[in-house]
Amino acid sequence: ALDFGIQKALTQLGIKDINNGTSTGSNNFGSGELIKSYSPVDGSLIGKVKTTSKKDYEKTMEVATEAFKQWRTKPAPQRGEVVRQFGEKLREHKDALGKLVSYEMGKSYQEGLGEVQEMIDICDFAVGLSRQLHGLTMHSERPGHRMYEQYHSLGVVGIISAFNFPVAVWAWNTALAWICGDVCIWKPSEKTPLCGIACQNIIAEVLKENNLPEGISCLINGDYQVGEYMTQDTRIPLISATGSIRMGKIVAQAVAARLGKSLLELGGNNAIIVTPDADIKMTIIGAVFGAVGTAGQRCTSTRRLIIHESLYDKVKETLVNAYKQLSIGNPLDEKNHMGPLIDVQAVKMYENALKKLVDEGGKLIVEGGTLKGEGYESGCYVKPAIAEAKNEYAIVQEETFAPILYLLKYSGDVENAIAIQNNVVQGLSSAIMTNNLREAERFLSVSGSDCGIANVNIGTSGAEIGGAFGGEKETGGGRESGSDAWKIYMRRQTNTINYTTELPLAQGIKFNL
Ligand code: NAD
Repeated sequence: ALDFGIQKALTQLGIKDINNGTSTGSNNFGSGELIKSYSPVDGSLIGKVKTTSKKDYEKTMEVATEAFKQWRTKPAPQRGEVVRQFGEKLREHKDALGKLVSYEMGKSYQEGLGEVQEMIDICDFAVGLSRQLHGLTMHSERPGHRMYEQYHSLGVVGIISAFNFPVAVWAWNTALAWICGDVCIWKPSEKTPLCGIACQNIIAEVLKENNLPEGISCLINGDYQVGEYMTQDTRIPLISATGSIRMGKIVAQAVAARLGKSLLELGGNNAIIVTPDADIKMTIIGAVFGAVGTAGQRCTSTRRLIIHESLYDKVKETLVNAYKQLSIGNPLDEKNHMGPLIDVQAVKMYENALKKLVDEGGKLIVEGGTLKGEGYESGCYVKPAIAEAKNEYAIVQEETFAPILYLLKYSGDVENAIAIQNNVVQGLSSAIMTNNLREAERFLSVSGSDCGIANVNIGTSGAEIGGAFGGEKETGGGRESGSDAWKIYMRRQTNTINYTTELPLAQGIKFNL
């Protein structure tokens, strides 16, 4: 019944055979069981996707390894040109892909478009970077010697991604890995497999137009077991995994056991500190968007507000009023602020979290609850909740992937707020709202926020691709996207060249023959 142009989007994105199990490209040999993808928007079955068996995986690995031999010898700026064309294709398909993201994952159409825009932005970034994969030149301690370093392509990069950014996380990794001369094998979340198919179709077209092997970009489908093919595979030097801390701990150990490299982007428990010098209007906008955007299912979602006692009541009251304005419903309808959670299991986790919170002594000031009735038939829609809580509650220490915002009170100096903020196992994103320069600088100093991202007068969510993205502690320590994050996708080689007729040894060692 509900369309909003979904059928047209699927056709435009080349998604075929949806009833029998769709697959894509010459290198997807899906012969395993079918995954059914249901939309959390209206509960309907969007389509079925073929999964990858161990045998299919071996074939995928073969084409990827073969493609790598060719791709790594192409000059980096020419690889950049292919990524530029990929960015152009994404511009053409932005509406359709944004719509599919919204329908399969449940985030608002605006956020779906934003996610595709991030893909386009990282392509632009990668194109420029393809001429800047610089190493250093060092002075040798020996006469007539030259020493320098160069970055070489690494090999096959394995990408494992989460449901909540079903397309952008892949692009953050691939756009950089490709210009670095690597080839990629991607296992998207089993909750958003059609987004994976759509992306593969788009890049396959670009590769074909350039007479390049599709093995440069491979897609495998399935659950954690298919992910394990890659984490245990010594032919994959780097695994980039995005998802829960639970998953990250398992993946990190599997990859470390074979001394591979991992890039981990795991859960957050992000806070905004609101000091007596905060701009209340900005605070409210930042906090509400951070807490209810993507229905609280961003790794950078705002989960805790640490508010100074002097303005606690004012912030609380303004927030409660702001929440009254929120409309919840079909995310493809632009009048709604918040769509559904990913599935009914996520709804259960949300309900359990609210129950645990009350058991621990927390007080709900915006009640929350699961929505029923017309428009909510999928059973995935919940109301955003606000609770007064304490940082030491077990439930506050956890990341619940849902729109629950905890209000925590602090008194005295900003140091007290920073201590509360840092007192969790996660270390992804953090923010301070203040017009006080001293407070802001203390928050950003070495004894301030311990997170990978620390913002002043902006919320915790919505990072730009130009900076390195990632977090500390149990968030996993990985960095993706901008700055020098590209280096992890390459191997560094130090070269020393002797252009004399002598063979002096380093450290002045004499070895007379
Ligand atoms: P999840 O951990 O359930 O799954 C993530 C991916 O890992 C899926 O593709 C899954 O199949 C795979 N996987 C699970 N166990 C595995 C194993 N043992 N071996 C190999 N692969 C395995 O996470 P989710 O529910 O899809 O996503 C939500 C989580 O992701 C949240 O914790 C969120 O904070 C986090 N996240 C982090 C970032 C970041 O950049 N830090 C970005 C997005 C999401």
